[in-house]
Amino acid sequence: MNKEITQTTGGQLSFEVFPPKKDDDFENVYALLNQLSLLHPAFISVTYGAGGSKSKKTVEIASYIQNTLHIPAIAHMTCVGSARSDIDQVIAALKEANVNQVLALRGDRPAWMDDAQYEGRAFAHASDLTRYLSEHTDFQIAGACYPEKHYEAVSFSEDIRHLKEKEEAGAKLLISQLFFENSSFYHFMEEARKAGITIPIHAGIMPITTAKQLGTTVTLSGSSVPKALSDLIATYGDHPEDMRKAGVDYAVRQIQDLQAHGFLDIHIYSMNKPKSTREIIEAVR
Ligand code: FAD
Repeated sequence: MNKEITQTTGGQLSFEVFPPKKDDDFENVYALLNQLSLLHPAFISVTYGAGGSKSKKTVEIASYIQNTLHIPAIAHMTCVGSARSDIDQVIAALKEANVNQVLALRGDRPAWMDDAQYEGRAFAHASDLTRYLSEHTDFQIAGACYPEKHYEAVSFSEDIRHLKEKEEAGAKLLISQLFFENSSFYHFMEEARKAGITIPIHAGIMPITTAKQLGTTVTLSGSSVPKALSDLIATYGDHPEDMRKAGVDYAVRQIQDLQAHGFLDIHIYSMNKPKSTREIIEAVR
């Protein structure tokens, strides 16, 4: 990762984008990225399909960000469904594309994996992939963290203990799962620092701009929904533009509160929506 990403914190705004769902939609994503680049993010991260299914697209989009837009790109990379040779291939493709920054993830168990395959996976946890990347590449490595604990973790403290292992394995930056209630992030930060986790942690914020998005997001992330947010859906859910504005406003208030508490590094889950992302940036910068 560029020096400024891992070593200088304070006021970094960054975005997550996802690759096109269809192969012929690349132009739309490039147009989106061109718009996002005007907001001068510290970096843009690109998601990776479950089980590695979309790794080629991830590399291609990350390469465009890094080499055409000259913005640091972080390519997400999961390992749950990958053999060591698959990971080596992704490493080679990233090197070839001049993308040297990755978000090392375990990923969720894909539907095609049976119990034996899951138990025998090459990389058990994200920290194993992180260690492998540290030992075999000169990539700068980021990892994921969970202010409300990961859904599989037996306890919050156990999850934090494993997070510390991620730092020990070579992670230089953490990006948090989205959350809607800042108090959970403040509690998490306190516990993470108490546990000796010292690397920068960027707060993940997702604007909820449609009623449908909230359902999908909560199912995927496990994040809890405060009453203030469900009230917004009840009030504006049937009026798309009002709902969009209310969702942007909720995210802006969350970020301003984080900034007021001294948490200045914010990662926005852009959902590939440049207008809402721009409005948020203009309000919080
Ligand atoms: P891990 O860090 O391995 O943790 C998973 C669970 O294992 C946790 O409960 C942890 O406590 C436990 N654990 C860790 N180490 C040990 C150990 N040594 N012993 C026992 N238990 C252990 N998914 C995608 O498919 N593609 C993406 O692009 C993507 N991007 C993401 C970006 C961010 C910022 C976040 C927060 C998540 C993203 N995800 C993505 C989702 C992620 O893949 C899932 O949340 C997945 O279930 C966990 O991945 P992880 O890397 O956090 O796993």
